[in-house]
Amino acid sequence: MKTGPAVEADIAVVGAGAAGLYAALCAARRHARVVLISATPLAQTASYWAQGGLAAALAPDDSFDLHLRDTELAGRVLVRRSAAEILVREAPDCVHDLQTLGVRFDADRFGQLALGLEGGHSVRRVVHAGGSATGRRVVRQLSALAVEEPHITVLEGARAQALWRDENRCRGLVCDDGRMIAARAVIIATGGAAALWARTTNPPGSQGIGLLLAHAAGAALADLELLQFHPTAVIGIPGREGFLVTEAIRGEGATLHDASGERFVDELAPRDEVSRAIQALLETTGQRSVGLDMRAVDPAHFPNVVAALRDAGLDPTRELIPVAPAAHYMMGGIVTDLDARSTLAGLYAVGESSCTGLHGANRLASNSLSECFVFARRAIEDALTIRSDEPLPAGADDLQELRGLPAQPLTQAATRDALWRDAGVVRSEEGLHRLLADPHPLARLIARCALTRAESRGAHLRAEYPERDPALDHRHVVVSGEDSLSWQTWN
Ligand SMILES: Cc1cc2nc3c(=O)[nH]c(=O)nc-3n(C[C@H](O)[C@H](O)[C@H](O)COP(=O)(O)OP(=O)(O)OC[C@H]3O[C@@H](n4cnc5c(N)ncnc54)[C@H](O)[C@@H]3O)c2cc1C
Repeated sequence: MKTGPAVEADIAVVGAGAAGLYAALCAARRHARVVLISATPLAQTASYWAQGGLAAALAPDDSFDLHLRDTELAGRVLVRRSAAEILVREAPDCVHDLQTLGVRFDADRFGQLALGLEGGHSVRRVVHAGGSATGRRVVRQLSALAVEEPHITVLEGARAQALWRDENRCRGLVCDDGRMIAARAVIIATGGAAALWARTTNPPGSQGIGLLLAHAAGAALADLELLQFHPTAVIGIPGREGFLVTEAIRGEGATLHDASGERFVDELAPRDEVSRAIQALLETTGQRSVGLDMRAVDPAHFPNVVAALRDAGLDPTRELIPVAPAAHYMMGGIVTDLDARSTLAGLYAVGESSCTGLHGANRLASNSLSECFVFARRAIEDALTIRSDEPLPAGADDLQELRGLPAQPLTQAATRDALWRDAGVVRSEEGLHRLLADPHPLARLIARCALTRAESRGAHLRAEYPERDPALDHRHVVVSGEDSLSWQTWN
């Protein structure tokens, strides 16, 4: 790889979704010099597409304990309690901080934050903006601030290709055009990997690139078998395949129906339960979709969802919407501690690319945006304590190696089809073995982790092992070093 002279920064942030933007702004507020790089335009981040909102215990009938309990119940005995405790305690303050940054969340008629209800939540706790346009509103505001902020240099259209490390720590990164960024800390905020699956709710860029960068540089990954399937993605409508119909709509009374019009599942159960019930029905009937009836829901509360459905020729006020599960959220990722530190010094991971362990085996709806903000802030607080008297590396000669992506990655349609077929809602031993031969390095790691977890838990449903194995409670599959796999319990 040909490299140019290094740009210097205190903090390099890779990714400009909710996690990366907020991390950059937190660092800039502390007068750190930040370089923020983003491979795709704003509108192609998962954050921009987020509909429901952010979970935070703000209602008078809510509490940290209740939010923690719901998170743990959804997570199926795999939630790392210390991380979940941090989330529930710090999420309300992040909501307030976003308000001070100018994000305007929806309010009720008394001027209080309007809180939505979603599956797995025992009370209303989802803060939203523009009805179901939360991600768009938040990301637009944060990116406008980032562009104006003199401490932040934004490199749009720049793609991280390799991490720079010396013997001990991460020292920066290199972009695919050869630009080098030398930094005291690198924050990976590249989002999830659900777009590796053929049927997905995610933008095309969610391909786990940050996971591959971190892995190549020697940082540990974990829980790659734990990919959440969202129960209600639009199916069979050209141009809208995979479009997500937010859970908040079920929170307001939308119901799911089989071909004879009968309801068959508690629509507000956690996502793994609802997805499994739909999948089981589809397998027994041979149908492609079930019907989502949102005729009783006020369309004015979800203007962008209703408009998108109408654009696709569906009228949700008159007809049922055809939906089925689609790959949605990667619970696994780059292993981090409670300050978002990866196992490689100087390298942090925040947002969906990280694996804090707080989602366990099944993320509670709307906990991910909250996680982006809570852990981005913690990452910056920690990164700013890194000694600043060591010189930054001057060029590639100072560094042991550049640890990067294969020159020509990556995802072919065949890989996406293979992941959907072999690591979809139900995984068989035979399919996972087949996936081990896929050309995509992350697909192979996902298959290895999924084979290792010989049980069914949360989003991970193994045909041959339909039950949860209590011996694997609180046990995470960790990929480290030269692809070695081990079980770990995290405190
Ligand atoms: C349709 C949809 C609805 C959702 N609704 C909700 C919701 O209501 N509530 C909730 O909590 N969660 C929701 N989620 C999940 C949530 O939106 C994501 O988990 C979260 O936004 C991830 O944010 P992020 O900052 O980690 O990554 P992203 O927002 O995906 O941003 C990733 C960034 O990394 C950049 N990038 C990637 N690779 C590189 C590279 N090599 N070099 C440079 N840049 C790179 C991308 O360009 C992008 O800027 C939803 C997800 C989807 C898809």
